Amino acid sequence: MTHLVYVQRPIHEEAIELLRSSTKVVLGFGPGGRDIEAILPDVHAILVRTDPLPAELIRRARSLRVIARHGVGVDNIALDEANRRCIPVLITPEANLRSVAEHVFALALAASRNLMRADSFVRTGRFAERDRLAGRELFGGRIGVIGIGRIGAEVVRIARGGFAMQALGYDPHLTPEEIRQQGAEPTENLDKLLSTSDIVTVHVPLTPKTRGLLGARELSLMRPESVLVQTSRGGVIDEATLAAAMREGRLAGAGVDVFEQEPPPEDHPFFGMNSMVLTPHIGAHTRQAMRRMAMAAARGILDVLSG
Ligand code: NAD
Repeated sequence: MTHLVYVQRPIHEEAIELLRSSTKVVLGFGPGGRDIEAILPDVHAILVRTDPLPAELIRRARSLRVIARHGVGVDNIALDEANRRCIPVLITPEANLRSVAEHVFALALAASRNLMRADSFVRTGRFAERDRLAGRELFGGRIGVIGIGRIGAEVVRIARGGFAMQALGYDPHLTPEEIRQQGAEPTENLDKLLSTSDIVTVHVPLTPKTRGLLGARELSLMRPESVLVQTSRGGVIDEATLAAAMREGRLAGAGVDVFEQEPPPEDHPFFGMNSMVLTPHIGAHTRQAMRRMAMAAARGILDVLSG
């Protein structure tokens, strides 16, 4: 029996080829792309990126045996309905951690070296004003990593190996020994990490407990020469409070990849801040990670369908 796989959004071509080697693939994009409704009762596997996969759709997909998420967040998928039907929902947790961890340093370096302002100086005839752009080295400094999971641990490795930084780690779900095993020195509390780090970087999931984890009190503890990096999920850091801190010069810089609302509204308070570097949720967007995510999702689908 030939299985039918629906690939909703563009993914790396090699993964589509892999799926095609033993299944019939229907694409939901590009010329000839079809709406899932057309094949819903017959589809055996759905490969999604960030588009919603609601319960009502899963319910009507009578032949469905597996859902694969290209990436990690599953907030777009009706998990309850998938669980009720015993349909596995696969994720690709290892595929993008290196890319996100490298992006942390892209943001930390950009903020520490005033890269955005420097670029605009060159383009607008202000080359000679470069003395106004004195930055800071990361080398030998201290990085405070909040959340020592997959990405946080990789950030610790790069910070130590690449920049000889001392890493402080805060993660209430790990023992001090487990934090040490990842190469970070555990702090007894978040306040200590915030008040003693040159770079603070956040790697926790967004949950009711972590929403607003860094608010007014927490940001006020950070040192004025420090840089904050946010690549986790919008909502973990209170944006209005961070904007106020930046406006008042209470932090040297900040790099932000994720926002409470994506895309952020046109009048977002961060837009007027030239000590901030902003990227459109591209932490995992590298050729390598996109390929790895696609291949992991495709292999997962084939494993379930053949197993
Ligand atoms: P992970 O589950 O491996 O690690 C998360 C860690 O956070 C865990 O060790 C957990 O114990 C810890 N944690 C939970 N609550 C905490 C708290 N209150 N304080 C401190 N630590 C806490 O997750 P991961 O794969 O490392 O991903 C981390 C974050 O990065 C997630 O928010 C994820 O959504 C985000 N992410 C962003 C991008 C991007 O493109 N920017 C890509 C992938 C993942």
